[in-house]
Amino acid sequence: MPAVEYVTFRILRLFRRLPVNVLSIGSSTVIFAEYFKDFEKLGSVKGIFGEKTGEVLHHLKVVLSWVGGYMYVDGSDGHLVISKNYLSNGNKTDIYLDLIHELYHVKQFLEGKELFDPRYEYVERPTEIEAYRYTVQEARRLGLSEERICLYLKTEWISEYDFKKLAKSVNVSYC
Ligand SMILES: [Zn+2]
Repeated sequence: MPAVEYVTFRILRLFRRLPVNVLSIGSSTVIFAEYFKDFEKLGSVKGIFGEKTGEVLHHLKVVLSWVGGYMYVDGSDGHLVISKNYLSNGNKTDIYLDLIHELYHVKQFLEGKELFDPRYEYVERPTEIEAYRYTVQEARRLGLSEERICLYLKTEWISEYDFKKLAKSVNVSYC
């Protein structure tokens, strides 16, 4: 199996066991470890939380919401908010990388770091750069091409200028 196909296969397998209630009306609150099964066994996740991986994921609340967008960590108590629409219709590789990125923010939150420090622009905020660097490292480990990683970094809500700046900060070339 070609490397990229294999990556897709492995990622799809991770999402196959998601409970199907994602499209139910209203928001639902779930526990990360119960919803995203087997994530605690992933090297990428253990690389974030170390021996606390199981403990953190079994306590991490996830709100599945109809609110638009993708996903983010709520700065009040560090829970995760994920758009149901994104979860059911988004590209699974992007969702996987976003989950890794957000889990990195959960770790930062648990360390007492300010996730939304207004002194910095989004693409210059140290917590973002750190989370993106970790995510890019995981994307490369999975065998994604630099081109595909650029595509991942490019979201419609950041400008071309900011996107280039971000790509440079996380050492992704060819963007
Ligand atoms: Zn972030």
